[in-house]
Amino acid sequence: MPLERSATMRVETADLAIVGGGPAGLGAAVTAAGSGARVVVLDEAPAAGGRLSLQVREERGPDGTIAKKPGRLESRALADAAAAAGARIITGASVWGLFPEWELYLAPSDPADPGRIPDLVRAKAVVLATGAAQNPLAIPGWTLPGVITAGAAQALANVHRVRPGRRAVVVGADPLGLTAARDLVLAGVEVTAVLPAAPGRYVIGPSRPEEIIRNLARFSAHSPGAGARLAGRLVERTGIAGLAARLYPAGGVAIWGTRLVLNRAVTAIVGDGAVRAVMVAAMDADGRPHTDRQEEWPVDTVVTSAGLAPIVELAQMAGCQTAHVPALGGHVPLYGPDLRTTVPGVFVAGSMAGITAAPVAVAQGHLAGTAAAAFLGLLSPRAATDRLSAAATAVAQARRQNPSFLPDDAGGLRRMEEMWRRTLPDDDKTTTTGR
Ligand SMILES: Cc1cc2nc3c(=O)[nH]c(=O)nc-3n(C[C@H](O)[C@H](O)[C@H](O)COP(=O)(O)OP(=O)(O)OC[C@H]3O[C@@H](n4cnc5c(N)ncnc54)[C@H](O)[C@@H]3O)c2cc1C
Repeated sequence: MPLERSATMRVETADLAIVGGGPAGLGAAVTAAGSGARVVVLDEAPAAGGRLSLQVREERGPDGTIAKKPGRLESRALADAAAAAGARIITGASVWGLFPEWELYLAPSDPADPGRIPDLVRAKAVVLATGAAQNPLAIPGWTLPGVITAGAAQALANVHRVRPGRRAVVVGADPLGLTAARDLVLAGVEVTAVLPAAPGRYVIGPSRPEEIIRNLARFSAHSPGAGARLAGRLVERTGIAGLAARLYPAGGVAIWGTRLVLNRAVTAIVGDGAVRAVMVAAMDADGRPHTDRQEEWPVDTVVTSAGLAPIVELAQMAGCQTAHVPALGGHVPLYGPDLRTTVPGVFVAGSMAGITAAPVAVAQGHLAGTAAAAFLGLLSPRAATDRLSAAATAVAQARRQNPSFLPDDAGGLRRMEEMWRRTLPDDDKTTTTGR
């Protein structure tokens, strides 16, 4: 049922409302606005750019050299391109409600800043590009001051140029944990090690050395990052991840000014009012911690990384069907080859549709923006077919060049294709390929 509206509400109208001004939302804005749609991008952060603004990405050039690319410059260029195409970007605006055809209710992110943003945006179509959230790592002591997530570490080190502490340990031996460790080392923090959490009821993600090596090795096949490549080389040299896990050096392997340690695991974080140390137990190659052989490592900061989960609440509110697909990061909306959902006029893109890297999110944004423009009747049928096909090909290419943080996103995408085919009536199934 639509909410009651007061006469004093500030209402703005658009053809297309995009929720999320990260790489996916901005990509969609560039394409849809470029096709003639009146586009409004809404983001609750103080500036557009999403998680890309926090990252320092590495890209391999055609000659094999590796260049560091500050994400904040890339995201600013994307926001400039969206604005140049005619999109209006409203930041500091949190979308808390999405009601059919289509009303988006906003609240200012900063309550001291009322009146700057509209209360309500009415649009004919919506692209949801809300990104992902970090999973908590609930081990004993995880609520102590001094425990921060990998994303917070990236924001402090790369955006605010603040060292969160003097000596840190990263708990979570995955690509995001390694990336955060590198960013902290560059910021001048002593990072004792990157190591897994001991397996436990509330611990998400692999703890067994073999699984961790497999995950990092898969990532390393594409990543120009030295740390990720290293784990890959270990596997290449020894043939299989199981053997690599057994041969793994006791003191860990040096990476980016820290150590990747796989035969020890953090069992608890300790301190009185603030982090003082982590408890570290020896772990065998089968991932069993030996708590009788524990030692205390003094640190003042603990960075956790336990994977990412898509943010899908607004899709659920819009009535989109969702499914639990762990291979894509958790609950995701069902979507078709052109990123339409089960609700006409609602499209998705980026990590909220399955955790993905920034370049893939941008390409998905272009695809969703094209599909939304076609839905709005701004493209001829011929132009729509051609552009959708080109945009889908670009997504597939971006996926080949930038693997997701997830070990089996290809399996997740196959599952999505199957579910989509089963969900829709036969005459609504399209054959466009690539997601
Ligand atoms: C903490 C973290 C660290 C990451 N680090 C890396 C990395 O180092 N390398 C890498 O390749 N990938 C990383 N990723 C993956 C990341 O999701 C992609 O790189 C990329 O940013 C995805 O783009 P996106 O546009 O889908 O989402 P995001 O970049 O997350 O953008 C989503 C935007 O939606 C906005 N938003 C969400 N909900 C609302 C709402 N209700 N109202 C208004 N605005 C809303 C957010 O403010 C955000 O700006 C990271 C992800 C996270 C969560």
